[in-house]
Amino acid sequence: MPVVDAVELYRFFHPGDSEVAALQGVSLSLFRGDLTVVLGPSGSGKSTLLNLLAGLDEPDGGYVEIAGKRLSRRPERVRAGIRARHIGMLMQSGNLVDHLTIADNIRLQRALAGKQDCDGKIVDLAARLGLSGHWNALPSQLSGGEMARAGLAVALSSEPDVLLCDEPTAEVDADTEQHLIAVLAERCAAGAAVFVATHSAALARTADQVLHLKDGRLIDA
Ligand code: ADP
Ligand code: MG
Repeated sequence: MPVVDAVELYRFFHPGDSEVAALQGVSLSLFRGDLTVVLGPSGSGKSTLLNLLAGLDEPDGGYVEIAGKRLSRRPERVRAGIRARHIGMLMQSGNLVDHLTIADNIRLQRALAGKQDCDGKIVDLAARLGLSGHWNALPSQLSGGEMARAGLAVALSSEPDVLLCDEPTAEVDADTEQHLIAVLAERCAAGAAVFVATHSAALARTADQVLHLKDGRLIDA
């Protein structure tokens, strides 16, 4: 049984007098232990899709289920609860609280998910992501690549069933990219469904499922 089911998702935006059909009937299933990559040009709807899967935005048509529970069109409080328990998300714009240190960002994420304060596993993860020296830094003190790694550490710190990442390797060098790919593979091996929007061919090569999005629709490659 899939841990994420998205059924016929539609999302329209209305900037000015125009209408943008950002998603036009996207259906997908994500399974535990699988890495799914979505490829597509800029503007094809990747971030819109991730935001709907995380329940950060609501579809205009269709719905999302997480672990058999409907996420779409529920009150924000209910969506936030499902998100905290099941979902880790690395957003393109960053997912760190600006006025908290990296360590406190991780503690907050764990607390929201009802987990204990940082245990050895989390400290190890941060170390492997090269964040040990930045434990007490504020997000604004990090470089773009460090911010991406810190964002991933925060997204992973609640040990989510579903990990959603929006272009996690966009600002990192080739070495860091390999580290991030290894960390994503580990989360899959731990039984999570991992879903990544990316332009990285290296990441796509490691995927169990590769989806192609174009003009808001999934297409055959
Ligand atoms: P991608 O992540 O693949 O680059 P997006 O999901 O960000 O694509 O955007 C898909 C389309 O929807 C684009 O045409 C974008 O301009 C539009 N769009 C996304 N978010 C908004 C918004 N909040 N308001 C207006 N248009 C938006
Ligand atoms: Mg995007």
